[in-house]
Amino acid sequence: MRGLPYIVVERVCKSFGPHLVLRDVTTQFCTGEVSVIIGASGSGKSTLLRAINRLEPHDSGSITIGGVPVSSNEATLQRQRIDVGMVFQHFNLFGHLTVLDNLTLAPRRVHRTPRAQAEEQAMALLRRVGLHEHGGKYPWQLSGGQQQRVAIARALAMQPKVMLFDEPTSALDPEMVQEVLDVMRELAHAGMAMVVVTHEMGFAREVADRVLFFDQGRIAHEAPPAEFFGQPASERIRAFIGRLD
Ligand code: ADP
Ligand code: MG
Repeated sequence: MRGLPYIVVERVCKSFGPHLVLRDVTTQFCTGEVSVIIGASGSGKSTLLRAINRLEPHDSGSITIGGVPVSSNEATLQRQRIDVGMVFQHFNLFGHLTVLDNLTLAPRRVHRTPRAQAEEQAMALLRRVGLHEHGGKYPWQLSGGQQQRVAIARALAMQPKVMLFDEPTSALDPEMVQEVLDVMRELAHAGMAMVVVTHEMGFAREVADRVLFFDQGRIAHEAPPAEFFGQPASERIRAFIGRLD
């Protein structure tokens, strides 16, 4: 169920050297809404997610989260990184920590949650992603699909208001893609707001409320999935979808 605008992106530009990577990007991501972003490699999809999370500052325009501009101010940044969870292509788990400790580290440090309570919450999250028997393992003892499910659970442990996913299944062996998409689908059905960069068109068709097509740093088109895939708005989109199917 689509709610109110939560992340508001207005006329955002970003360059790397002479290379303009985001060109006047304007969009909104609402509570309870699943947005899927597709587009060719190099079109700026990751840069937009990274700008929202302030992993990469933008040059001009504005991004607000819950009405507050993203900022390099430490307190604001910390608050916003709690509210906006991020899942990367390459999991980025802490390799020297067990699965359980990966999940409890930030709640204990940031929220000051007592260990026992943090572990109880972590176990509930691991159960949700089907990994409650693996809490004592280290990331290297898990498959890629399992590691990515841990990464999702770890992000959820901070109780974010929205989750950003940057090609969460692109680094996985094909047989592990579905188990991660299943967890994401379940999250969406539970009402989590999600912004998902992916090439998984089946997921986009089935789960997205809206599909955004990125082309050379611009949102070239946006539509609900039935329309986006049913009546492609341009030859370029038709060709892009055709290549992935
Ligand atoms: P996408 O995620 O759509 O594949 P990106 O947002 O990663 O695209 O990248 C967009 C463009 O910006 C690419 O040409 C990429 O090479 C360039 N780029 C991304 N990050 C950096 C960086 N830190 N320094 C220089 N160029 C970058
Ligand atoms: Mg990318």
